[in-house]
Amino acid sequence: MVSPTFVIIGAGLAGAKAAEALRGTGFDGRIVLLGDEHHPSGSRSRA
Ligand SMILES: Cc1cc2nc3c(=O)[nH]c(=O)nc-3n(C[C@H](O)[C@H](O)[C@H](O)COP(=O)(O)OP(=O)(O)OC[C@H]3O[C@@H](n4cnc5c(N)ncnc54)[C@H](O)[C@@H]3O)c2cc1C
Repeated sequence: MVSPTFVIIGAGLAGAKAAEALRGTGFDGRIVLLGDEHHPSGSRSRA
């Protein structure tokens, strides 16, 4: 069976935590994180 792809809109803290939660629950499929930043990603905050 083909693994589903999760698309997360918003590449901020909430989006990063959503991706982390997916991995934390054992999801090993494709995760697409979409943001509207005009610069490369970096860590602004940690939680
Ligand atoms: C200058 C600054 C410094 C900060 N410093 C700290 C700190 O040191 N510690 C701390 O705990 N908090 C800090 N914060 C607050 C912290 O950044 C926010 O609480 C946190 O980023 C909120 O996360 P979020 O994912 O909800 O929203 P955001 O981080 O705002 O993320 C929203 C995401 O949605 C995306 N998006 C928006 N519109 C669209 C669209 N139309 N299509 C696709 N994507 C879209 C944006 O590109 C972004 O990736 C700071 C905030 C600012 C502005």
